[in-house]
Amino acid sequence: MSNTSPDVAVPQSDKNASPRLRALLDTIPAYVPGKSAASADRPSWKLSSNENPYPPLPGVLDAVTVAAGQMHRYPDLHATELTNRLAGHMSVPASRIALGTGSSGLLQQLMQISTEPGDEVVYAWRSFESYPIVTRLFGARPVEVPLAHDEAHDLDAMARAVTDRTRLVFVCAPNNPTGNALPRDVLESFLDRLPTDVVVVLDEAYVEFNNDPHRADGVELHRDRPNVVALRTFSKAYGLAGLRVGYAVAHEPVAEALRKVAVPFGVSTAAQSAAIASLDRQAELMERVHELVSERVRVREALLEQGWTVPDSQANFVWLRLGQQTAAFAEHCQNAGVTVRPYGRDGVRITVGERQANDAAMIAAGQFRRHLPAILG
Ligand code: PMP
Repeated sequence: MSNTSPDVAVPQSDKNASPRLRALLDTIPAYVPGKSAASADRPSWKLSSNENPYPPLPGVLDAVTVAAGQMHRYPDLHATELTNRLAGHMSVPASRIALGTGSSGLLQQLMQISTEPGDEVVYAWRSFESYPIVTRLFGARPVEVPLAHDEAHDLDAMARAVTDRTRLVFVCAPNNPTGNALPRDVLESFLDRLPTDVVVVLDEAYVEFNNDPHRADGVELHRDRPNVVALRTFSKAYGLAGLRVGYAVAHEPVAEALRKVAVPFGVSTAAQSAAIASLDRQAELMERVHELVSERVRVREALLEQGWTVPDSQANFVWLRLGQQTAAFAEHCQNAGVTVRPYGRDGVRITVGERQANDAAMIAAGQFRRHLPAILG
């Protein structure tokens, strides 16, 4: 259409003006992804995004290749086969499962179904950086409860922070970025203290790496608690971060609402097929998980030996609270070919990757530690 048309009322001077967007967006930080590996010219390692260092499980690439041949078709909206397979895998009714484009997609869906503008969302801080973003994006009010001294969730303080405006509580266990898990009895008594009309999300993105015998299991905890949602993903242990598929397990009213607000056809056929093929490979999956867990133990022990304080991580990463030294440490690692994830002036998260990458990270951390007195002046 030509702008000389008498039907177009826009004055010429406004032609390049920006459209009016929600003012709120100016106050919300964008999600910060982990930086890429340091350099393509020399050995360098990306330990900044909690990715799985292993290639897809056997059979997954073939399944995705077949699925790719169907890309001119929309995926199965209900992801029927994957949903049924997950239901069997966890012994829950299929009606209690809702899928999303990664658990990130489900975090948005959870906000959409539970909060009105001005409602409160309670979560520990520091925790997964998406919580403040999605909370504010939906006009809700973040209520951030500082972590306890040992970097674990302070569940007492979180329970006290719940008011009659609270609609949603995020509990991240193991916690990103500190790695702490929560024992089952502790989490149960927390849940017992909360009003039953508040949705409690147990974000278990790293659950497969948690080998604490006393660990809480969100799927088990949800069974007799209609307000509890277990949130899981294929991005971490299953190594499908690039395909975007996660799932929530919750009683029917919540699961149904989550399905209602999902982006239609958001989970691609490739993602559905890859997830199904991955579920078929539990033995190989567990081998990889064991390998990463033993690397996590090795890395933590080496760091402890170097003199660092490292929380007992049950995830695929470790946490160093570096305070003012955070940026300097991250830069030092980057120069040594290891990309880690700094968080402001709080600390650095180091993903557990392949053995060589972990070795490089431990060497870099050791060098930094030795030079710390000089750095601190
Ligand atoms: N929850 C937590 C605690 C995470 O660390 C992440 C990924 N960084 C996610 C959810 C989202 O992962 P995805 O969207 O890939 O499932």
